[in-house]
Amino acid sequence: MRWIVVGASTIAAEYMIRAFRAQPGGEVRRVVSSSATRGQEYAERHGIPHADTDLASALADPETDAVYISTTNEKHLEQALAAIAAGKHVLCEKPLAMTAAEAARMVVAAREAGVTFATNHHLRCSGSHRAIRDLVAQGRVGRVLSLRIFHAVHLPPHLQGWRIDNPAAGGGVIPDITVHDADTARFLLGDEPLSVVASMSASGMGQGVEDSAMSVWQMASGAMVQSHESFTHPFAGTGLEIHGTEGSIFASGVMTQQPVGRVELVTARGREEVPFAATDLYTTGVAEFVAATRGEGRPAATGEDGVKSLAIALAVRDAALSGQRQAIQYPDL
Ligand code: NDP
Repeated sequence: MRWIVVGASTIAAEYMIRAFRAQPGGEVRRVVSSSATRGQEYAERHGIPHADTDLASALADPETDAVYISTTNEKHLEQALAAIAAGKHVLCEKPLAMTAAEAARMVVAAREAGVTFATNHHLRCSGSHRAIRDLVAQGRVGRVLSLRIFHAVHLPPHLQGWRIDNPAAGGGVIPDITVHDADTARFLLGDEPLSVVASMSASGMGQGVEDSAMSVWQMASGAMVQSHESFTHPFAGTGLEIHGTEGSIFASGVMTQQPVGRVELVTARGREEVPFAATDLYTTGVAEFVAATRGEGRPAATGEDGVKSLAIALAVRDAALSGQRQAIQYPDL
């Protein structure tokens, strides 16, 4: 698959370009940046043959099959619609857009154009999360009562930028991390949040956007989810717990970009370590995306998954702003 990378971004540099090239025949042919200088430097640094400032001329390259979008969030919609209109498959970063309705437009456009459109929710591609999902699906914890997600981290200085001070670019911990946790809850439990209560704050990093959020979600099954995200917690560590009528799962260090962490299952039989595959999350996600473009299976996180995770995250923000329980408004798809 021959890729156009839209956005001279950190995530592409640190993870995605390598993941594209790790696939058989995987090639990154062009990078699109709003700055000619930055785009050219980025292309040279990463061995990408072409740098463009004009998305349309990049999309006109017939030697490309797919577009990866990792610009700031407010640009995703227009860029995705252009790529879809050009007949390219699209892997788009989370959050898909600034509103769930905009994200739904992307999904519908891709469906009508007959191209694959997916969301880069990498945690679904983690061996730890897949092992946990399997335990839940096999009934090893019985009926799920609750999920607690611990995703309060310290945002490293090189990622602070627009995330901590630019609401117009989609800054704030809720579009950045709560959206991942929303997808994680749906993935692990196979269940949908119906409503949320929430609180948020700026606790030292956020300037005009929240840098911390806590929320409680009521799931369709009756289970409850408690979710905590932050940019300002250097030593909190990450993890999740699932508690059911027959067992509990304790996972530590698993809300991460790396294939690391520990998973334990506790039941009446005692405590057991749960093994999982330590494969690269992003390479797995790209492999499943490429297979889906060939009609084999589906992407790890579809466009529909990205719309729902965004709807949930935005309901968390609305609940925190209003102080009222928010019913989640999922767009019709
Ligand atoms: P970056 O801040 O690294 O890049 C975003 C945009 O910022 C780039 O497209 C680029 O614009 C611009 N930019 C980059 N460097 C500079 C600079 N030195 N000066 C001015 N502008 C600059 O963002 P991230 O890579 O952290 O995030 C990009 C997207 O990916 C977001 O949507 C984010 O939510 C998502 N993401 C997803 C992750 C995941 O695991 N799924 C992890 C991290 C991010 P231009 O392209 O015009 O040059």
